[in-house]
Amino acid sequence: MSFPDDPRIAEAKLIPVQEVLNKLGIYGLTERSGEFFGPCPLCGSEGHDPKSGPCDRFNVNKHSKKFLCRQCGIKGGDQIALVREVTNASFADALSMLCGDLNVDLDPAEAERRRAIAERKAREDQARTNRWRQTRIDDARRFYDRGIDGWRGVVGAYLRARGLPLEDIPTPLKFLLDHPYVKKIGGENIVLHRGPCMIAPIVDWQTGQVMAIHQTWVDINPPHGKARIVHQGEDYPCKLVCGSKQGNFIPLITPEGADTMVVGEGNETTLSAYLARPDDLRNAAFWCGVDLGNMAGKMLKVEDQRWSGEPDLNPEFDAFLPPPWVKRLIYIEDGDSNPTRTRAMMLCGLKRAQALRPGLRAELVPGVPGFDMNDVLNGKHKKKTEGQNDE
Ligand SMILES: [Zn+2]
Repeated sequence: MSFPDDPRIAEAKLIPVQEVLNKLGIYGLTERSGEFFGPCPLCGSEGHDPKSGPCDRFNVNKHSKKFLCRQCGIKGGDQIALVREVTNASFADALSMLCGDLNVDLDPAEAERRRAIAERKAREDQARTNRWRQTRIDDARRFYDRGIDGWRGVVGAYLRARGLPLEDIPTPLKFLLDHPYVKKIGGENIVLHRGPCMIAPIVDWQTGQVMAIHQTWVDINPPHGKARIVHQGEDYPCKLVCGSKQGNFIPLITPEGADTMVVGEGNETTLSAYLARPDDLRNAAFWCGVDLGNMAGKMLKVEDQRWSGEPDLNPEFDAFLPPPWVKRLIYIEDGDSNPTRTRAMMLCGLKRAQALRPGLRAELVPGVPGFDMNDVLNGKHKKKTEGQNDE
């Protein structure tokens, strides 16, 4: 028997939605913005038109616990109601399934049907992800092929505006004159901006193939610094990656016979280091790692440690592997982000490279807090320090 003041009611309502779903054998829901959705535990995806995208007729809110199937109409507002709707149990039995020792007795045929639904959904999701990834790679290659050689246009001006007076523009850098800045907003692709754009190829060195591009929109007006991209009063970053960057870097400068590689997070940081390179790095390669996560690869999770700094060497995860000619690998730290996290990620990437390339020498050039390498070489950090002293 169960009464409205049964203490188990409050207990049941504290059980996380995910746990209830597992108990009920409901797998294969997608979680987004605090909501689980997917095929319905009762009516599955029967009659669903796959052309309209994945079946999402059933949803449960993680926080409010409200659930609804738009097809068969099961609905309710808490964990007990969810159990009752799915198993057709009485209130008392549903409560015992959640808090007591009553097992959720799924008919084997029903359990099998749900497992099959979840499996099919996972396969469909994977296929969709693969198609999407390939489309983005194709887009990246098309843009890069269409790009104009960097020395002929806006690339040199942009780099000078960023304090990088390069004599020769690295050959991989190209540009497009009227390149659209597209962002998906509310499920729709919107062109927020058009204009000149520097295009850097993100390359898988093992195959030599362009897998993604790094795009930097440039101000159309002199001195051609970063473009300001504003949409409905909101600022957007002037840099976007298109394609599949994971484990791939931008080979900015690769002199013949190089045996040292210097890697910075951004094109600007890497080229700053190139301009400021000491004599022993005269013949080094300078590659851009695109972002910290890409330079680090997957990090090992260690209990009680936010960032272990140790690489997860599971080969399932794509991560950067230095070419065999690299005998010395130098990571340059930007000083402009969270220092603990940055340091851990840099070490993770270097340790990964050393684990995969025995005998490799690895070094870390520390950043100046509050500034990226570009600022440091431009003396901006000094100006700020002096300014602070004056106060
Ligand atoms: Zn349904």
